[in-house]
Amino acid sequence: MIKAVYIHIPFCPQKCNYCDFLSFQQMKEERMAAYVQALCQELRLGAAQYELQPQTIFIGGGTPTCLPLELLQQLLEQVQELLVTPALQEYTVEANPGTLTAEKLNLLRELGVNRLSLGVQSDTVEQLSLLGRIHDYQEVEQSVQMAREAGFTNLNLDLMYGITNQTLEQWQATLQHVLALEPEHISLYQLNIEEGTPLYQRLQKGEIELFDDETAEEMYRAAQQITKQYGYEQYEISNYAREGFASEHNQVYWRTENYLAFGLGACSFISPRRWNNLTHLHEYQQAVFNGQLPQGEEESLTHKERMSETVFMALRMNKGLKEADFKERFGLTLEQAFPEACRKCQQEGWLEKEVGYWRLTEAGRVLGNLVFLEFIE
Ligand code: SF4
Repeated sequence: MIKAVYIHIPFCPQKCNYCDFLSFQQMKEERMAAYVQALCQELRLGAAQYELQPQTIFIGGGTPTCLPLELLQQLLEQVQELLVTPALQEYTVEANPGTLTAEKLNLLRELGVNRLSLGVQSDTVEQLSLLGRIHDYQEVEQSVQMAREAGFTNLNLDLMYGITNQTLEQWQATLQHVLALEPEHISLYQLNIEEGTPLYQRLQKGEIELFDDETAEEMYRAAQQITKQYGYEQYEISNYAREGFASEHNQVYWRTENYLAFGLGACSFISPRRWNNLTHLHEYQQAVFNGQLPQGEEESLTHKERMSETVFMALRMNKGLKEADFKERFGLTLEQAFPEACRKCQQEGWLEKEVGYWRLTEAGRVLGNLVFLEFIE
């Protein structure tokens, strides 16, 4: 069963300095129109091949809301025709301040979108400029207000910490400032400087320094405390929500359930197969217009790989991994499948088992990936 559908829009007004996602800046309207046409065709091909009644849809990017109004409408109408059924619970569109208008927001609401995810990243001029964001904080506030006026009652805001020269005090103030906007959900990511990005070049030239791990860890812990004070529950390593607003779509990924993705370079998973769509814009469009699903590289996960992935994705969630689900899926308990990793992680105080769930301890959550590596053989 396909629980979730992801749809990729690979366009942004301007490329951010830290971005290594598949997205193109300043694309001409005709090229965006050709892409949306191809994407709609891919959706039709997908709907003919798979039974599609997803519980969640996520249109991400890129910046979906940088599409001109008519193209956004064309895409959303196609989605509504093919994918919106009574099974649908959560329908998210990603947006960036500076690309939203009341007209676009009203259109999203009219065509069934019930969750908006806004990239905020920071509230300070210097940090937004270092990151190469196109907006200032005033536009963030305006976007939130416009979204509320359009009737959005489920709003996520993305924020970054560990930005060059950011202090712990600045981060605490930013978080409080942004939480005062009362989003239902907030995602907090540490800035990673990826190879090939403008920030990486600046790092190579010695113009900026790598952020120190100790301060990043303090920022993470401060975020846990502050979000709690404001009534949010942490339900995943980077995600916090008011009661009832945990993201359903992301939980499909963390529970390693099946999802199908459309658009340039988008990655799908139908166990045990995982594949990417073609990543070259022209080849992608050509394949689709020739009536083929634009599939690129594919891999088939082994039994062991599926077990590993199930463990480390589930352990990202505070709820953890349900022992009974793991046993039902793989015919083994976690300790039978990974005796050494379970022993070591429990002994180090990173992992605990409680009422049928395996979960990371506070110490384990801070280490994150290092703990997950123990379950990869
Ligand atoms: S808005 Fe997002 S996808 Fe677009 S360039 Fe910035 S980080 Fe990349």
